[in-house]
Amino acid sequence: MFRRDKAEELIKKYFSEEERKLAAKEYSARYYMKNRSEILAKNAEWSQRNKEYLKTKKHSRYLNGAVPTRIKQREQILNAYGRKCSECGVTDVRVLDLAHKNGNGAEHRKAVGAWKVYKDVIDQGFPKDFDLQCKNCNWLDWLRIKPPATTL
Ligand SMILES: [Zn+2]
Repeated sequence: MFRRDKAEELIKKYFSEEERKLAAKEYSARYYMKNRSEILAKNAEWSQRNKEYLKTKKHSRYLNGAVPTRIKQREQILNAYGRKCSECGVTDVRVLDLAHKNGNGAEHRKAVGAWKVYKDVIDQGFPKDFDLQCKNCNWLDWLRIKPPATTL
């Protein structure tokens, strides 16, 4: 007789957590590939049935929380750092990014999480080690810090 608890015990005994996680991942990937059309049809049917719900505010992450908060935070950042590129002075906010003057943006994002960088800068009271740069100047800065192995 197959005993699930016994089987689980044996699996735990012989396979590490990592191996078990990988196996589960593989299983669900295989399951998805095998049943892809049914799964997609089911999802489409659910969306069709819940059309009205999907239109509501309650459902939307976009309308509800994260994005409006981020827009507000970005406004605060833009205002605090002068709404222009510190290098070339361009004022089109569409191309302006918060720049880490000492080039440790990746570290900062890793430390606080990419979506928390604005909040962190606001919480720190807009420190001087940040400014605004347009995408071009930011990229040129990055190339100065880390020159590419080859140039085209
Ligand atoms: Zn610039």
